[in-house]
Amino acid sequence: MQTPSRPLRLVVDLNRCQSYGQCVFAAPTVFRFRGEESLEYDYTPDDGARREVERAAAACPVQAITLSGATEAAPLPSGAGR
Ligand code: SF4
Repeated sequence: MQTPSRPLRLVVDLNRCQSYGQCVFAAPTVFRFRGEESLEYDYTPDDGARREVERAAAACPVQAITLSGATEAAPLPSGAGR
């Protein structure tokens, strides 16, 4: 049985991002660094990357990653600090 898929949309708050790179390790097909600290990512990752992206969002120490269309809501409340 398959879960109905909704388009996965991904937003990274680059003002909040501290280039820790946890997302790159968690979802290397979606996140990458260009240069030393410039994060690039796929705004609409393939549904096959859903688990990786959810893992990346959960791993981000500053909760900079927001997902929509995910089966498990990944955005975490802000305020955890650094
Ligand atoms: S894990 Fe969070 S802080 Fe680190 S590079 Fe990714 S988005 Fe930025």
